[in-house]
Amino acid sequence: MPLHAPGNEPGLHVCALCGNAELYKKKDFPHWLGLTILTVACLASIIPYWLYHQWLTWTILIGSALVDGLLYLWVGDVVVCYRCGAHYRRLTPGAEHKPFELGIAERYRLERLRREQLQTAKKQQKNGEW
Ligand SMILES: [Zn+2]
Repeated sequence: MPLHAPGNEPGLHVCALCGNAELYKKKDFPHWLGLTILTVACLASIIPYWLYHQWLTWTILIGSALVDGLLYLWVGDVVVCYRCGAHYRRLTPGAEHKPFELGIAERYRLERLRREQLQTAKKQQKNGEW
């Protein structure tokens, strides 16, 4: 689905689901798979290292680094909403889409926690538990 901003500028400026303007870009690649490749390469290099096959050890480690680099170049970007976590693929991130920032994500996490606390308090108030 092509997404366009109200001012006829192509691109995504606000989240189509929640209207939030704070979006970030990241590689469209699962973190668990990257960590699995790294872990398998490290574990696989232990045995040749233990057997004093240094060239095989380096081949495994450098080969995994090359695979990681090729995946980085091959995998595209995805734009993600900080508030609702919606993922937008198949669009080119613009200059306004910065990489992930932990401080901004923490602000939205606290907002979500406050909202859940308010909902819990309302339920308890409704049930007469106050
Ligand atoms: Zn959103």
